[in-house]
Amino acid sequence: MRVLKFGGTSVANAENMNKVVAIVKRALSEDSAIVVVSALGGTTDVLIDTVKSASLRDESFKTKLSALEKRHLQVVKELMPVDQQSSTLSLVKRHFNEIENICEGVFLLQELSPRTLDNVVAYGELLSSLILSAKLTSLKMTHQWMDSREVITTNSNFGNAAVDFDITNKSVKKCVTDGNKKLFLFPGFISSDANKVTTTLGRGGSDYTAAIIAAATGAKVLEIWTDVSGMMTADPRLVSNAKVIPNISYSEAMELSHFGAKVIYPPTIQPVMEKNIHILVKNTFAPADE
Ligand code: ADP
Ligand code: ASP
Ligand code: MG
Repeated sequence: MRVLKFGGTSVANAENMNKVVAIVKRALSEDSAIVVVSALGGTTDVLIDTVKSASLRDESFKTKLSALEKRHLQVVKELMPVDQQSSTLSLVKRHFNEIENICEGVFLLQELSPRTLDNVVAYGELLSSLILSAKLTSLKMTHQWMDSREVITTNSNFGNAAVDFDITNKSVKKCVTDGNKKLFLFPGFISSDANKVTTTLGRGGSDYTAAIIAAATGAKVLEIWTDVSGMMTADPRLVSNAKVIPNISYSEAMELSHFGAKVIYPPTIQPVMEKNIHILVKNTFAPADE
């Protein structure tokens, strides 16, 4: 069993999602796989900005939300065969209607709690994973989409919830071993508390989702698919001659991530280290080099 996590850039548009599908197909030819996806790149920021505008009685939340909806609909139109688009388009519209309803409530009350913010941002990963799931179905790639909120249980610290590993490990293991599926798809970042209220694992938390699932299922490898080819000596966006570090210990990776190497969200390392799982940082846009 391998766990593959695809970040926001990797699922930012239809072209990139097609690359993801090709990578998943290749992985499946060797082993069963669990795929974890982030929201379409930038979506979480837009959702936060949108609902914050609503809380300030700023009507611009409507245009922000409709631009984000358009972007998601466009991805579906480019990704899916024409005769199979309609159910996914209406699913996307339904989700955006729900977000709009929540934003209207926030607008009227002028109040935005951390709980409501988590409720809103969760739609990013729900949408990306449901769109990818529809694409896999259109390609007859049998898989099981799982709602991560039903398997990852946390406390109620909205925005940065702490995982209850006793409950979570059991439920992750159960859902992955039930049935005989070779491919599972999970939205990253999202979870729920003991009362089944939606929580999130902190910004960048999809890496952590993947690590939690890898540790619970006894996976040997966790692949973090992103827009760089490994952990590097520095952020390549800031330092032009940053180099990929070919091998790095858990403690060094932990240190680098704590000092701002956002390619791996710091809490990701702990569950992976405990189970001695190999982490590979791979480039979605240069998979052949890996
Ligand atoms: P994803 O959306 O795939 O999770 P992120 O944007 O969270 O991707 O993380 C990848 C980015 O992390 C890279 O584009 C790179 O600019 C940045 N980064 C910062 N420090 C490092 C580092 N030391 N090594 C690699 N990438 C780094
Ligand atoms: N979408 C979430 C964020 O932007 C989680 C992630 O991408 O890892 O923080
Ligand atoms: Mg990230």
